[in-house]
Amino acid sequence: MSNAEWFDRALAVIPGGVDSPVRSFRSVGGTPYTVVRGRGAYVEDVEGRTYVDFVQSYGASLLGHAHPEVVATLRDAVELGTTFGAPTRGEVLLAELLTSRVPGLDQVRFVSSGTEAVMSAVRLARGATGRSTVVKFDGCYHGHSDGLLVAGGSGVAQLGLPGSAGVTAGAVADTVVAPYNVVPVLDDSVAAVLVEPVAANMNLVAPREGFLEGLRAECDRVGALLIFDEVITGFRLAFGGAETYFGVTPDLYCFGKVIGGGLPVGAFGGRREVLSHLAPTGPVYQAGTLSGNPLATAAGLAVLERVTPSDYAALGERVDRFARGLEEAVAAGGLVGLAPRVGPLLGLYLSRESVTAPANIAEARELCDNGLYAPFFHALLERGVALAPGAYEILFVSLAHSEDDLGRTLEAVAEAAAVARRS
Ligand SMILES: *Cc1c(COP(=O)(O)O)cnc(C)c1O
Repeated sequence: MSNAEWFDRALAVIPGGVDSPVRSFRSVGGTPYTVVRGRGAYVEDVEGRTYVDFVQSYGASLLGHAHPEVVATLRDAVELGTTFGAPTRGEVLLAELLTSRVPGLDQVRFVSSGTEAVMSAVRLARGATGRSTVVKFDGCYHGHSDGLLVAGGSGVAQLGLPGSAGVTAGAVADTVVAPYNVVPVLDDSVAAVLVEPVAANMNLVAPREGFLEGLRAECDRVGALLIFDEVITGFRLAFGGAETYFGVTPDLYCFGKVIGGGLPVGAFGGRREVLSHLAPTGPVYQAGTLSGNPLATAAGLAVLERVTPSDYAALGERVDRFARGLEEAVAAGGLVGLAPRVGPLLGLYLSRESVTAPANIAEARELCDNGLYAPFFHALLERGVALAPGAYEILFVSLAHSEDDLGRTLEAVAEAAAVARRS
């Protein structure tokens, strides 16, 4: 059965044919490919076509798909039972690993998604401070909980939505939106400032020099908590995440994606004193039937135990060369490519004119909505390279992407840029 046939069946029984809007091809047109399997840097669809995959589950995969040792670990784990409703060793081991790598992380609690992690961290911040207001930044995505679904990046920006229908004014009344890369002036109603330390849901926007330090200082001045949403940056940006990369310590951290090794997981944590407000020791309630799931913690451990600080350095160097290669390849195709990178995080903006790196969603939007991405995306897909089907997403280069995979990609990029230029 073809991609089109599978997608028709999906459309009949799943709204829009997808379980997450970013997977739909709405903004680029056409029909999604339905994946059968993945291996390393590659995915294969139901028609037997393979693609060099830069989606990598939107960053959940760091070693690439179906890493043999992760698969073997999961096979062993599944034999022991998949969920108990009682403490397990895996959650202790993964919590020990995370807290040993992230300097300011004393304790961590596992949940089942990034959304849950951020939602719970915000509740904890409000409970711990006794304050209501949460400041978030325009274009940052923090999952789809009601209070944070305002001015979100990623699919929310892609679909041109200010927020979401079904979210009451009351639910967002205590969420204040500020422009990224400008330190807001806070007052003592603010419970927390929530930020992506590198904005990776408006394509890639790097924090300006002093931005994160400024947030830390402003939070300290008014007694607000600083929350790093590290669902993308955590254990991808660096061995110890954004804190070690930038030298700024938040009060609370949110994790997801990489730490589950490709299984559903999230986590939030921080200073012991703040975490003591959480039930059962404190009054802030939070719970989950599948939280700290044994398969997810086993997969997370299998991945994180396998990566070293030098893997991050090597990936960063590879991505740096690839970023320059992307800009050259796009130029060879007659367009201007801007490939900002922070460590192993990589963005790509296309333009007909020379551009400077965006500092916020307004600047990113001009480049994401200029009509060049859709033809570029499809020309790449035809050439066996899969980017995310939306201009607001970044490229995820895994440790499985070889120089050869990246070289092939650059050849396709030059051709795709030429196609987009003629569009
Ligand atoms: C993906 C993402 C989330 C949400 O995580 P889910 O697992 O999709 O719920 C939250 N914050 C950031 C920064 C993300 O990129």
